[in-house]
Amino acid sequence: MAIVNCKRCGRIFNRIRRDICANCIAEEDSAFAAVRAYLKDHPNATMADVVEATDVELELIVSMIRDGRLMLHDNPNMSYECQRCGGPTQSGRFCARCTEELAHTLAKATSEIKKQIKDSGDEGPKYYSRK
Ligand SMILES: [Zn+2]
Ligand SMILES: [Zn+2]
Repeated sequence: MAIVNCKRCGRIFNRIRRDICANCIAEEDSAFAAVRAYLKDHPNATMADVVEATDVELELIVSMIRDGRLMLHDNPNMSYECQRCGGPTQSGRFCARCTEELAHTLAKATSEIKKQIKDSGDEGPKYYSRK
């Protein structure tokens, strides 16, 4: 048993699987249902339209999309800010361009590390496990 403070409302509760209490889960579920129903009826709605129509906070809608709980399919106007460049995106944390750039940067960094290891004449990366 783990007694923790609800991340959303601050109430103390017995944590089972999520960081928010049963009350907040129920509230999020109904918010989620409202958003989904609204989007179904208004596929061209923007984020601002949904916030106004459903009274659900923008941050909550964004987190539902980021978590993959709310999927956008035929909602071309539903977008939120990429965490890296601030441009519009419809899924995850970053926009498509940043996702690509980050993957590229990571691949470059990886190949540079490999090159350094090769240049130093080492036999390969050494892994230390600390137990
Ligand atoms: Zn709560
Ligand atoms: Zn971006």
